[in-house]
Amino acid sequence: MARRVRGLAASAADQPLAEWEFERRDLRPDDVAVRITHCGVCHTDLHAWHGEPAYGNVFPLVPGHEFVGEVAEIGDAVRDFAVGDAVAVGNIVDSCGVCDMCVGGHEQFCVEFPTLTYGGVDRRDGRPTHGAYSTEYVVTEGFVYRLPEGLDPAGVAPLMCAGVTVWEPLEQWAIGPGMTVGVVGLGGLGHLAVKFAAALGAEVDLFTTSPSKADAARRLGVRQVVVSTDEEQMAEARSRYDFIIDTVAVAHDVSGYTMALKFGGTLCLVGALDPTSINPLAMLGRNLTVAGGGGRPATRRMLEFCGRHGITADVEVVPASAVGDAFDRLARNDVEFRFSLDMAGLR
Ligand SMILES: [Zn+2]
Ligand SMILES: [Zn+2]
Repeated sequence: MARRVRGLAASAADQPLAEWEFERRDLRPDDVAVRITHCGVCHTDLHAWHGEPAYGNVFPLVPGHEFVGEVAEIGDAVRDFAVGDAVAVGNIVDSCGVCDMCVGGHEQFCVEFPTLTYGGVDRRDGRPTHGAYSTEYVVTEGFVYRLPEGLDPAGVAPLMCAGVTVWEPLEQWAIGPGMTVGVVGLGGLGHLAVKFAAALGAEVDLFTTSPSKADAARRLGVRQVVVSTDEEQMAEARSRYDFIIDTVAVAHDVSGYTMALKFGGTLCLVGALDPTSINPLAMLGRNLTVAGGGGRPATRRMLEFCGRHGITADVEVVPASAVGDAFDRLARNDVEFRFSLDMAGLR
């Protein structure tokens, strides 16, 4: 007996998301069924809905790859989770498990490519994966994470994609006290980068084109706001930063940020970016590194850190039925940080 679930699906690119009943697989021995309460709305969901091939381009498409919920059922071999546990899942639900990357805990770089939460193909039964804009998800227990106690679940959901995307580089480059960090952009990724870097003890400045974001930025822990279109401010920011994390999702010129780094600093690009906007000479001349890229150990450490510091994403919670409006607003950048879909209405 396959499991019947309700979801929000697009039947083709640019067709509206509509309620759709579909089947999840029966639980395998190491599977956990998660009754979904909240799912974050990621920019990737929008790209996938537009049918961009990088996101699978398989319809019907059920987006959603950063979610939280409650364990509804467990397979016979599951020992680490019990029915009723509060859990979270991100954008990878399986990987080969044996390559160097997987063994090293960097499943996102699995040489066989990890199984994506949606728009992927299950590596055991060959069926397409459907995302978490739905009532329930079935996932192997190795890719299920415990929800930290005391955090608002709606705000934890975006940690599972947006959060880990910025957490992993901050951890890899050992951001901490005594370092100056620049965050470019204050959207879903950027506001979490600010919270993490500040809680890690670094001094954090924000680069933005919108001076109106200054108050929100300071509330999140930013020391100084640098308006990136202001030449004078950018000139003052020269050679100031150990690390700059650029979270802007549209093509833009990054040369100003390479100049804002100290010698040997790191510019980390985590927004999806047009590669032609990077001038390699600017990088070589200053001995800079370009980075991008969350494995399971880093995801666990991020959640533990968030629990300890009381960090969640700032979310606007909207009912699942309002997903169309949320997509429209995301497309025109009309959301302060992140939407979190409340799935209760789908049941
Ligand atoms: Zn995402
Ligand atoms: Zn692998």
